[in-house]
Amino acid sequence: METVHESHVYACINQNPCGSTKEYIIRIPYLNYVSGGVVHADTMAGGYEKNDPDLVRYMVDHFAEAIEWLKTIGVNLTGLSTSGGQSAKRTHTPEDGSAVGGYLVEHLVNALDERGVEITYNTKAVEIIMEDGAVTGVKAESDGEEILLNAKAVVLATGGFGANSEMVCKYIEELEGYVTTNHTGATGDGIIMAEALGADLVDIEQIQIHKI
Ligand SMILES: Cc1cc2nc3c(=O)[nH]c(=O)nc-3n(C[C@H](O)[C@H](O)[C@H](O)COP(=O)(O)OP(=O)(O)OC[C@H]3O[C@@H](n4cnc5c(N)ncnc54)[C@H](O)[C@@H]3O)c2cc1C
Repeated sequence: METVHESHVYACINQNPCGSTKEYIIRIPYLNYVSGGVVHADTMAGGYEKNDPDLVRYMVDHFAEAIEWLKTIGVNLTGLSTSGGQSAKRTHTPEDGSAVGGYLVEHLVNALDERGVEITYNTKAVEIIMEDGAVTGVKAESDGEEILLNAKAVVLATGGFGANSEMVCKYIEELEGYVTTNHTGATGDGIIMAEALGADLVDIEQIQIHKI
């Protein structure tokens, strides 16, 4: 049995009627059963057991909350499928099984619009500003102009660095010449900006590659 939801039990049952194997998924609403054991084991195995088990445990114990929170902004991930490295159906998808990315982004943008959050496009953060030991905003560039954005808090969400080959090779020299399927913005800017403020990096050399 594999479950990934707070308010539903997802039971995967393999039956063998008349010699053929069929898989059924039964959703039992309003029970509170979460079995993260399979997810934890899959994730540790996918990371060749180099992962920090406590961090993996934290993720396993909290991802159901993320699915529940997404519901509050209209994202209903009621479908289940299997992706790479998963030994049970536990990838949440829209009901019709379609790709989750565009569906998620559309609702997230709508949620920001409804709350009157201003989005500044084509604007590159270049430096985190610190004053008296506290972060007070960021410097950014837009159309060649420097912008100063003051803020009570700055959330770093600039993604990974797969599209920055210089940075990739800094951590794993043998990856010289490797191409990436990442988007062009995956340049590690947030990591570089945080490092400039003295942040420590953890497991930064753990880069996932696929044979094509
Ligand atoms: C080919 C491929 C397939 C994948 N498939 C799946 C999948 O099926 N399921 C899954 O769960 N995950 C999948 N992933 C992984 C997933 O896409 C990433 O883990 C996820 O997008 C990371 O989210 P993020 O918000 O941290 O970063 P990102 O999605 O990379 O977002 C970071 C954003 O910050 C912007 N940015 C960067 N630097 C700056 C700057 N200086 N100033 C302002 N903005 C900046 C970037 O342009 C980008 O828009 C896939 C990844 C790839 C490459």
